[in-house]
Amino acid sequence: MPLTKLQYPVYIPTLWKKLMSEFDYDLFVIGAGSGGVRAARMSAGMGARVAIAENRHMGGTCVNVGCIPKKLLVYASHFRSEFEDAAGFGWTVEPENFDWTKLIANKNVEIQRLNGIYERLLTNAGATIYNGLAQLADPQTVIVNGENITAERILVAVGGWPYVPNVPGKEHVITSNEVFFLEQRPERVVLVGGGYIAVEFAGIFNGLGSTVTQVYRGPVFLRGFDDDARHFVAEEMRKKGVDLRFDTDVLAIQKCATGLTVKLSKGGSIDCDAVVYATGRRPLTANIGLEACGVELNPNGAIVVDQRYQTNVESIYAIGDVTDRINLTPVALAEGMSLAWDLFSPNEKTVDYEYVPAAVFSQPNLGTVGYTEAQAREKFGAVTIYRSSFTALKHTLSGSDEKTLMKLVVDDASDRVVGVHMVGPDAGETIQGIAIALKAGATKAIFDRTIGIHPTAAEEFVTMREAI
Ligand SMILES: Cc1cc2nc3c(=O)[nH]c(=O)nc-3n(C[C@H](O)[C@H](O)[C@H](O)COP(=O)(O)OP(=O)(O)OC[C@H]3O[C@@H](n4cnc5c(N)ncnc54)[C@H](O)[C@@H]3O)c2cc1C
Repeated sequence: MPLTKLQYPVYIPTLWKKLMSEFDYDLFVIGAGSGGVRAARMSAGMGARVAIAENRHMGGTCVNVGCIPKKLLVYASHFRSEFEDAAGFGWTVEPENFDWTKLIANKNVEIQRLNGIYERLLTNAGATIYNGLAQLADPQTVIVNGENITAERILVAVGGWPYVPNVPGKEHVITSNEVFFLEQRPERVVLVGGGYIAVEFAGIFNGLGSTVTQVYRGPVFLRGFDDDARHFVAEEMRKKGVDLRFDTDVLAIQKCATGLTVKLSKGGSIDCDAVVYATGRRPLTANIGLEACGVELNPNGAIVVDQRYQTNVESIYAIGDVTDRINLTPVALAEGMSLAWDLFSPNEKTVDYEYVPAAVFSQPNLGTVGYTEAQAREKFGAVTIYRSSFTALKHTLSGSDEKTLMKLVVDDASDRVVGVHMVGPDAGETIQGIAIALKAGATKAIFDRTIGIHPTAAEEFVTMREAI
């Protein structure tokens, strides 16, 4: 086969290494998700002999049953409020007619396209793909489809899996794994859980026209996010028609004449067509030979790694959700890249875990970077808070009562802005830029010196002067 320019410099050392090495590969990656694909692709690109195994879909959770299809559904669900808002601007919008089957079919086509791209990225970089479940036979041997494959190093990047507690009627519920493939849009949905996935799906189904109830056992959802932002999201969701039941647990799920009945700890029950559990995810580490190899796991099954993603077994590494630290795609990507650089290049690229921004694609969005007010008070002591909530310009004509929240947390000693939180349209887009400022160490004085872009919601971040 003629060599392309790209392959040539890689191919000669690769062939030489194969002849010299006692192993089939330099690196065997288990799991072709965000982290695994990035590590495999980068390592192969640096001249390592790499293989990767995947037993479900190329691209992993994010591409197939996570970030990407979810955001597409979020877009779809937004149209309802866009249609409603349009009237105030002079448009007459015909009564909308939403086709779930078409949305899911179009989404599936896009996901298949992405699966193909991921596969080509790997093969073009020179990695070998094994389709099948990989298990560890020993610290340097993997078994896939009955074949023993040896590697100098093994990277476990198997991600996580939805966790559903043992509730009577558990067999009737679905999770984020199934919700993307429902044949029909359920008219009445109960979302169970208080994390970002439950919140996002409550917004999706509400926007698409379903009657939505979200049940969460704690006092308010989105634990870990800033308290003001959590309460604000809850208020906005209630205004949009989502029935939020906090401090409430599910006792049982039963079949009934019209679908399913969810029995609640506070008394009463809800009849619905689908119950979606989003009650957390657990690392997918059972039955793949990790314990037999002596790899240390946390009580929840997460693989314990050091700063360089190495486990207590020298040849075995782990990155991404399977280590259960910051479970986000960009973090898994950064870890995959960092590991590849570490193992197969003279340079190092460490991942900086401070000021990792995140968004909840709730309606409206929540965007966040840095410390919550409570965390900042604990870490820095004296902090000053700037907070503003207002009606965005668009809604002066749309008639919508949606509000936007912006909040800055400033460390008094250094004047550094250490936390920024926003609830409002496109908060995720806005916060990405702010995250750069925080990483650069921006102070409140620098925020104040920055000229705003008018008229935007984001300008509020540089015009807040009154501390609360
Ligand atoms: C509904 C949902 C929405 C999300 N939204 C966002 C978002 O908006 N933004 C964001 O940043 N993150 C989001 N996430 C999280 C994000 O998807 C994960 O953080 C990311 O996918 C982690 O990447 P990973 O490589 O660690 O694991 P994964 O992407 O889960 O990849 C692991 C892969 O390993 C494969 N595998 C497992 N075991 C084996 C085995 N034994 N042999 C072979 N293959 C195996 C799996 O099939 C999978 O493909 C979301 C997650 C969910 C569930």
